[in-house]
Order: sequence, then structure tokens, then C-alpha cells
Amino acid sequence: MTLRPTHTKHHAPSAKKAVTGANKAKVAKPPAKKPALPRTAETPPSRPMAPQARFEFFRRLRELNPEPKTELEYSTAFELLIAVLLSAQATDVSVNKATRKLFPIANTPQALLDLGEEGLRERISTIGLYKAKAANTLATCRLLLERHGGEVPGDRESLEQLPGVGRKTANVVLNTWFRQPAMAVDTHIFRVANRTGLAPGKDVRAVEDALLKRVPAEFLMDAHHWLILHGRYVCKAQKPDCGRCVVRDLCNFRHKAALSASG
Ligand code: SF4
Repeated sequence: MTLRPTHTKHHAPSAKKAVTGANKAKVAKPPAKKPALPRTAETPPSRPMAPQARFEFFRRLRELNPEPKTELEYSTAFELLIAVLLSAQATDVSVNKATRKLFPIANTPQALLDLGEEGLRERISTIGLYKAKAANTLATCRLLLERHGGEVPGDRESLEQLPGVGRKTANVVLNTWFRQPAMAVDTHIFRVANRTGLAPGKDVRAVEDALLKRVPAEFLMDAHHWLILHGRYVCKAQKPDCGRCVVRDLCNFRHKAALSASG
């Protein structure tokens, strides 16, 4: 779907009629024109943001939240890997709800394998796609034991060989646990990068590459978290909150003025 601004033509039916002294007072003003609101999550790329504006964009997000963190709950690299694997097409809230019960009884590859597929399914059944995720989780546990001594590897190639672990999951683990400047582009980051002009790109890989080039070095490590949180809570898909956005003046989204006014 594409954005369809809701421009409305307001015809003033009485405007062409002669306005006489008798009916002059009754001529109503046409209603104010409604702002054009984007109606879908898809946003055509905005023109690229200038380097100085990009720096200021992240400086402000950092000022608001100096130590941004993932909203997934974990205490070890293995817990993080499993939480991220379970979070594909599911909310962090639903994953945390399940892992709060799962991790206290099983938070190592062997302990999860000991639960068995049925046992694991029962404990994650509130998460979307839980059957496939249970199978992938156990297959990942087996590979971790066979190839990595039960530890989570800190390189992309090994991570991406784990069942259910794609580039995005590997990027989250590399960035969040191993503190590498990797950029996991999810739906929020893809939208914010295109909408604002920060790093326009036609697909997630193009946006990932553009962000790695265009985010100023001092913000690269935490940019992933700032952008996700900004997209999740402010620059939302259906109703971006431009009226209270701290980077409004830097953003190149063409609807922002209308959204600020309506906000
Ligand atoms: S001004 Fe609006 S569109 Fe631009 S980043 Fe802020 S919320 Fe998003």
C-alpha cells in the first residue's frame, strides 16, 4: 500500500450565489482543511538528511536516553540469543512473559534440550509461531553444544549457521552482547530511516548498509536501540507523534508539518 494523503476539496456551494443583506449573516465559513495524514506503515523515502543534521539527530536521542537498552529481558548471551530467536514476528512483551518462567528452570543449551520439544512448546505457547521456534531453539542448542562447547559464538558466520538465526538476530546479538557496531534493521528502523531521510533504502539490507555508513561513529554502537525505541514510541507506523518529536526540525518526512499541527 502507498500513502494516500487525504486531501479534501471543500466546495463552497453558496459562494457563487449572490449574497444579499438578508442572507449575509448566514453564510458559513468553509471548515478548516484537515491535514494530510499518512495512512499506512509504508513510507516513501524522504530526501537524505545532511551530515550535521544526522549528528544532531542522535545527539538529541542520546540526551533523552543516554544508555538505551533492548526491552527483551536476559542475563546471559545464551538467554539473549534465545529471547531474540523467539521474538521474530512477536512482541518483546510476549517473549518476556514466557522467558520469565522458562529461564529460571532452563537457561543453558543442555537444560533446554532436557525439556524436550513438547516441554519447550508448552512454555512458549503464548508466543507467535511457537512450534517452529521450539524446533529451531532445540536445533540451535544441539549445534551450540556440538560446535561451540555450549557457548554463544561472537562471529556472524557461526551465528547465522544456527537454525532460526538470520542476519537480523545475529546483528542483535553481535551488537547487544558482543558490542560490535552491527545494525539490526527491523520494521521500526526501516521506517524511521526512510521517513526521516537518515538512511533511505529500498530494503532492509540497503538500510542496514546506509546506516552503517551514515550514522556518525560516536553513535554507531547504540544507534540500533535509539532508532527502535524512537520508531516504537514516537515515530509510529500509523500515527507518528510529530507534535512531540525531539527531532522534528531535522526530519525530512513530508507529512510532519500536518502531523505536528494535528497532534
Ligand atoms: S517528525 Fe514525525 S516523522 Fe519525523 S521523526 Fe519525528 S515522529 Fe517521525
